[in-house]
Amino acid sequence: MIGWKVSEFGKIEKTKHQEFLDGLDSVKIKLTRALVTEDDVAYVCGEDKSIKLPVIPVRFAVGQVSEVAQDNEFLKKGDRVVLSSVSPCGSCPSCESGKPENCYNFSVAGKTVDGFLKDFAVTNLSNVYALPQSVKDGDAVYIEYVALALSVIDKLNVKKSSHVAIIGGNVFASILAQILIYYQAVPILIDEKESNLRMAKKSGIYYTVSTNSKPEKEIASITGGRMASSVVYVTRSGLNTELAYKIASHNAPVVFAGYSYPTLKVPMNVALAKQIQTSCVTNGYGNYLSAINILANKAIDLSAYALPVTQMDDIVEEVEKMISRFNDKKPFNNLLVDLLG
Ligand SMILES: [Zn+2]
Repeated sequence: MIGWKVSEFGKIEKTKHQEFLDGLDSVKIKLTRALVTEDDVAYVCGEDKSIKLPVIPVRFAVGQVSEVAQDNEFLKKGDRVVLSSVSPCGSCPSCESGKPENCYNFSVAGKTVDGFLKDFAVTNLSNVYALPQSVKDGDAVYIEYVALALSVIDKLNVKKSSHVAIIGGNVFASILAQILIYYQAVPILIDEKESNLRMAKKSGIYYTVSTNSKPEKEIASITGGRMASSVVYVTRSGLNTELAYKIASHNAPVVFAGYSYPTLKVPMNVALAKQIQTSCVTNGYGNYLSAINILANKAIDLSAYALPVTQMDDIVEEVEKMISRFNDKKPFNNLLVDLLG
């Protein structure tokens, strides 16, 4: 079996690996599609030095069940599935008190355990979810983003017609904005990159604001002076965190959200002045089934994020290009990989 691993930060190489069924609840998956994102590249480049190498990167993948350790009511050979990138430890105080969603020590694909840039994966039944026929593989790779967005919405004060400002305009931000519309809120997506603002418009986001055009004033005008009733700061946006607190209304929740996170400085004095509630969301645990339903119901439109498919032979070259762009602090697209070739 083959995979692609990081043995040294900033480099990726093809490798051989073995995957054996491990325990009665284990399941072997033939991976079919994976999505390499900026978060994965941040890990590959060593932004978080606590990661132990070697590790196989990537946390977004879909596949097909190739073997089950024993017959079960949930999955059988041939079922199409999406893989969860996180699983709770089962032994920390949160897990022991029945709150695995607050686990102290999640295992994270591509970070604390091998991720999915490989042809086969063995995992526990509890980490895979069957996909309905109507959700195609190319869309299913975005379920991780949808689950993360739902975890963010759990922390927000989302009411009908409430204004939710999103600082950052990457694909995750755009998906979050679409789901907010589905929940009848009014998202306002803020970014400095015109290309991201255009992508959001194409996805049906009505309010987009450029950081180059007095965003505070714009938000005041859109909200009739009330400012945003909640704010989401996308950790990979590269934008000033102070804006999140400036555009929030008094007592509003401000959520920092993303799978990876550069060092961020937060102006606590601005938060204190408005008694802002700050919280952080770094995974979509507990929301995979709801995320699959959102795609099955066609509640959001993923066509603006469509990507060309990269074949296995080109993975190293394409990921190296992403690494180089990341190191030069230049933007780059996600990479959709075909793991069947
Ligand atoms: Zn735990």
